[in-house]
Amino acid sequence: MPTILWLLLALLVFGVLAYRRARGAAWIAAIAALIALSWAGALLPRWANVALTLAAIVLVPPLSLPRLRRALLSDALLRVFRKVMPPMSQTEREAIEAGTVWWDGELFSGRPDWQKLLSLPAPKLSAEEQRFLDEEAETLCAMVSDWETTNVYKDMPPQVWQYVKDKGFLGMIIPKEYGGLGFSAYAHSQVITKLSTRSGSVAVSVLVPNSLGPGELLLHYGTDEQKRHYLPRLAKGLEIPCFALTNPTAGSDAAAIPDFGIVCWGEHAGKRVLGLRVTWDKRYITLGPVATLLGLAFRAYDPDHLAGDKEDLGITCALIPTAHPGVNIGRRHMPLNAVFQNGPNSGDNVFIPMDWVIGGQPMLGRGWRMLMECLAAGRGISLPSSNTGMAKLAVRATGGYARVRTQFKVPIGKFEGVEEALARMGGNLYMMDATRVLTASAVDLGEKPAVLSGIAKLHITERARQVINDAMDIAGGKGICMGPSNFLGAAYMQIPVSITVEGANILTRSLIVFGQGAIRCHPYVLKEMAAANEPDAEKASVDFDRAMWGHVGFVVSNLVRTLVMGLTGSHFVRVPDAVAPSTRRYYQQLTRFSAALAFLADVSMGSLGGALKRKEKLSARLGDVLSSLYLCSATLARFEREGRQESDAPLMHWAIWDAMFKAQNAFEGVISNFPRPLISSLMRMIVFPLGRPYVVPSDKLGHEVARLLIEPSPTRDRLTVPMYLPTAEGEPVADIERALVATLAAEPIEAKLKAAAKAGALGTALAPGEGIEELAARAVSAGVIDAREARTLVEQRALVAKVVKVDDFGPDLGASLLQPATSTRASARVGAAA
Ligand SMILES: Cc1cc2nc3c(=O)[nH]c(=O)nc-3n(C[C@H](O)[C@H](O)[C@H](O)COP(=O)(O)OP(=O)(O)OC[C@H]3O[C@@H](n4cnc5c(N)ncnc54)[C@H](O)[C@@H]3O)c2cc1C
Repeated sequence: MPTILWLLLALLVFGVLAYRRARGAAWIAAIAALIALSWAGALLPRWANVALTLAAIVLVPPLSLPRLRRALLSDALLRVFRKVMPPMSQTEREAIEAGTVWWDGELFSGRPDWQKLLSLPAPKLSAEEQRFLDEEAETLCAMVSDWETTNVYKDMPPQVWQYVKDKGFLGMIIPKEYGGLGFSAYAHSQVITKLSTRSGSVAVSVLVPNSLGPGELLLHYGTDEQKRHYLPRLAKGLEIPCFALTNPTAGSDAAAIPDFGIVCWGEHAGKRVLGLRVTWDKRYITLGPVATLLGLAFRAYDPDHLAGDKEDLGITCALIPTAHPGVNIGRRHMPLNAVFQNGPNSGDNVFIPMDWVIGGQPMLGRGWRMLMECLAAGRGISLPSSNTGMAKLAVRATGGYARVRTQFKVPIGKFEGVEEALARMGGNLYMMDATRVLTASAVDLGEKPAVLSGIAKLHITERARQVINDAMDIAGGKGICMGPSNFLGAAYMQIPVSITVEGANILTRSLIVFGQGAIRCHPYVLKEMAAANEPDAEKASVDFDRAMWGHVGFVVSNLVRTLVMGLTGSHFVRVPDAVAPSTRRYYQQLTRFSAALAFLADVSMGSLGGALKRKEKLSARLGDVLSSLYLCSATLARFEREGRQESDAPLMHWAIWDAMFKAQNAFEGVISNFPRPLISSLMRMIVFPLGRPYVVPSDKLGHEVARLLIEPSPTRDRLTVPMYLPTAEGEPVADIERALVATLAAEPIEAKLKAAAKAGALGTALAPGEGIEELAARAVSAGVIDAREARTLVEQRALVAKVVKVDDFGPDLGASLLQPATSTRASARVGAAA
């Protein structure tokens, strides 16, 4: 009995130390105390006490004295580590090392400091940014009709191009000193979000120059002269930039581009200068067909050693005026009917002077690192913002439509089946928007969040796809038949573009989120890798020893924490006092998932080693857990930042339950497919010792979310701000908004008619062939409703009829498309705005 008690005590003491990540001294003290207790109380048989004491004397000093530990253990392990460490190319290394680690580091720590998240300053627009959003962005939205842009102009109309250039939309990220708007990432994101609620083509045309491209690259790496020359011209729209990386043979594997430049002497502006003879073949280049300034990525070679010792210099970025002889540009692709400018370009042996290389000669071969560094910020803003914008449009318009469109005499939004889709739309949008804003805030705090921007891009575009698919299902034929009154079809068509660009989603999910996250966000892995690559033997030994033993403690701690939190339902996890009571449990559960992720990540990396890189399905699922943790963090932070709006709470709760359930499934996917059966069973026992606790969001919660979408309310406004809300008659969104208000006003009147019909006071509710006017008149005569109510009813029916109507065209569809019914009115508006 005493032996069992001692063992239980030892287990408890070690468990507490591991759970709390105690330092080495605390472990030594605990071991000494336990052995002393055992001797003093004779709690263990004498032989066991002797064995334990000897083991402690033999093991503790080498483990606690760094020099001895290194000589006896760590150096040997370093040699093994060097052998098993998967090989990494220079481009892989640069991709992994790019950007910074921020909140993702906390999520990977197994013990996120929630206070840090909650203390982040709320993103705010300056007065100037707010004015731009309310005036210039509003006017730009009013100027365009997506239908005309797509079908009449097949481009942004000339007046719209001019307005975009004149007002500085193309230079939002360029600092004021160069004539740009110098906006924060948050302001940039707000503008793109707003434009995307109106026209995808306009949003893309604006977002590309503000994302990864000549502007961003020049700002960070350009020579002073390049900056002085190009940045003011880009800011004022005197140059239209594009950036060309993709080649027909190298899409996702962009580092493998075959486009090349040979360092050589050549003739430029009447002088003999050092430069490069460049050959390239690019496709899919946004703004390419109309660009005046081509940002070009190619591989530079120096066979004659004119620039240094190396021959293969690596990927290089240059800026080439498209008027330069030999640049072939102008042909267009047609990306799923979207008409933003996009097309191929090429050049064959085109000589460019060395000072066209971004950053000049010293930056030869540094292009990949430049691109990876800049991608981290741009990827976190452009597509997350444009896709959140499209989802806002879909949610607002479809929610309204679902209330005014009736079938079986019931608004379709009140059917449980439709409610389910509406709930997904609302919950997803709340989370997408939260993630967009948190990621933009990180950029404004000076971060280049490489992993988090990948997560934001991947999950916001995936959720946008879900939102728009749900919206299409709800809208039925109204979403399918194209025409000026279709408010969804264009967004539906453009979703695959978002999925594919800036890191195609399958690749991002399978390779980047966890692949990069596990190395970058892990507190020890990158340090171990750096130590293994360290040429100074003494430094390598010291660094590896420190990182490796830290890593061992980290794994043990996460194992214990995962198990303990699993057994206790994470009820004892400490949460900052300042969180909304209704969300406390989420923080506790997310802490549990963070520890479980860290534990599974280490077990996976430890047992599969380099093979994990090829096990994309496992890697993707571990990435899904990390992503869910980030999306939930953003959602909780939003709820707090917005003052815990009680009426928005169902959106927040739905989003968290959904994401937690998905994270749990991702864990299960890893565990049940883990290729080592014994490890898989152990993983399950540790991660889910009492089974899987999370379930899908309840139907009741889904019902509450759906109700929020089908009637006007501050919640619906908060969810869709800063959406452009047109007011002109004939605008589909404006018509829906009016019909929605009218429908809510008409519903009680209709209830009176129904009750009267049931009581026999009105004959029938609607006699065969009878119009609403006749029915209303009958009801007024019968004293069921008054004249004002009759008018309300008649007006509502007219507004709903407009909303339900779909466009039709003459038999010659092609010719008719060019003359839509709205063209005169929209053109007039364009003229007025211009
Ligand atoms: C409308 C549009 C605009 C664009 N704008 C630009 C631009 O301005 N500049 C520019 O340089 N490029 C641009 N691109 C190119 C874009 O970045 C590429 O399309 C993208 O990188 C994917 O390349 P790909 O289309 O050749 O697909 P592929 O590389 O052939 O990929 C096909 C599929 O395979 C998957 N895949 C590939 N490798 C892996 C892997 N290791 N693991 C798992 N899955 C994998 C991908 O995720 C994808 O689903 C644009 C593309 C489009 C369509």
